[in-house]
Amino acid sequence: MAEERDVFKRIMEKILNYINGELVEPAGKNYLENFNPAEGKPYSLVPDSDTTDVQQAVNSARNAFDSWSTMPAEKRAAILLRIADFIDRDLDKLALAESNDQGKPLRLARSVDIPRASLNMRFFATGAIHFASEAYITGNEAVNYTLRMPVGVAGCISPWNLPLYLFTWKIAPALAAGCTVVAKPSELTPMTAFLFSRLCREAGLPNGVLNIVHGLGNKAGQAIVEHPDVVAISFTGGTATGKKIAATAAPMFKKLSLELGGKNPNMVFADCDFEKAVRTSVQAAFSNQGEICLCGSRIFVERKIFERFTEAFIQQTKELTVGDPLDDKTRIGALISEAHMKKVLGYIDLAKQEGGSILTGGNRVRVSGRCAEGYFIEPTVITGLNERCRTNQEEIFGPVVTLMPFDTEEEVIQYANSTPYGLSATIWTENLTRAHRVAVQIKSGIIWINCWLFRDLRTPFGGMKQSGVGREGGWEALRFFTEAKNVCVKL
Ligand code: NAD
Repeated sequence: MAEERDVFKRIMEKILNYINGELVEPAGKNYLENFNPAEGKPYSLVPDSDTTDVQQAVNSARNAFDSWSTMPAEKRAAILLRIADFIDRDLDKLALAESNDQGKPLRLARSVDIPRASLNMRFFATGAIHFASEAYITGNEAVNYTLRMPVGVAGCISPWNLPLYLFTWKIAPALAAGCTVVAKPSELTPMTAFLFSRLCREAGLPNGVLNIVHGLGNKAGQAIVEHPDVVAISFTGGTATGKKIAATAAPMFKKLSLELGGKNPNMVFADCDFEKAVRTSVQAAFSNQGEICLCGSRIFVERKIFERFTEAFIQQTKELTVGDPLDDKTRIGALISEAHMKKVLGYIDLAKQEGGSILTGGNRVRVSGRCAEGYFIEPTVITGLNERCRTNQEEIFGPVVTLMPFDTEEEVIQYANSTPYGLSATIWTENLTRAHRVAVQIKSGIIWINCWLFRDLRTPFGGMKQSGVGREGGWEALRFFTEAKNVCVKL
């Protein structure tokens, strides 16, 4: 059996690091198995990189910095736009790779993840051309102007839930601003970043401008954060990891952008557009198997419509097909890993112990055929819990939501704000005065009124409290990857 496994390992596709423009093996020649979560089987190998690989990547990023940071923005933009064109050209291939690597429905990867990756590249490539310095006239005595200098080598560390989408969301503004980058995608979903490195070579991205080191968080990721020449860290991932990164980086005075977990409230008032609220709330609950930091996992419904809403919500939840991500009918694919599936099932057990009733779902799904060993869970709706219990306080990050009634506006605001998180919130009401009033009082970085995950890439994106530090998106991201330098000219 062990021998068979060795033979299998030798023939599996090897993902390679991308350092100084070359696709290279990790220095230690060690690899980890990369699983297809819908099949529950390894299908490729990912480098288990260490400090040697990170050191090489940082050296090459440092060497490339002078020429990349002084290249006219238009020239940098042209290269990034070429990469975006190649992403569009390879849409089908990249979407299939993302679905196989992550477990998400192929139709979602095709319609959202990969198009958004090329949009990220285009958005920041063109943004950099319009990014300008501010100037201040100080009476008739002086002129001040503020230069925005690229910070240097940036470390970009991304999670597994939206692999290429969030990878490009970080590296695009860093590169557009003139930084060079050492990036680490999640070890659970390395494939599209690997394919992306090939596109960078094809597009003529100068050597060393982007370096991708694959491997474990506490090894390769930690080495990036600890490296003294990596002066800014842009991280998206769990709150516990964010704390560790902050503790490592803060004494070195690195710039830090942390996009962390969420436990987002979805508040439904009786005067909402009922059909729209139900439909979108189901989507907000279960898109990408509930593995989106912005998913609305705590649903508060005004008591007057609680019963009607619950009935409609459950009916639409039951219509969601759980199955093979490659099947066009599938709406809920596989969870990222066996460990994560067990964690989510553990939370369903916890909800029962806490007195919750499972209205629908609650179990692992055994899909037939090639997906028989895959990590599938039914979309699960729980009721009968209060807002203070662990099920309603901790991030589950799976297809599990709770429904809770409320009577007054004050009450639901208090419920919404009761967790340590503050990423996003949704408000459903046709009363715009109320909508604005509630929006002001909710402690979240992103508020959606009568919609969910409607994005304009120019807007500040990020969380309050334990959901993060700093904001991404638009000028905020370009500012993060630059250092302000004020020059005062006495007249
Ligand atoms: P994670 O924190 O386990 O890992 C994220 C990345 O950090 C991975 O690349 C991992 O290898 C790396 N990492 C782990 N330990 C590290 C260390 N000590 N030093 C440096 N890097 C390290 O998170 P995950 O499980 O991949 O992603 C799920 C989490 O991400 C959820 O909590 C979710 O809410 C959050 N998330 C947040 C946003 C947002 O914009 N706020 C977006 C997506 C996901």
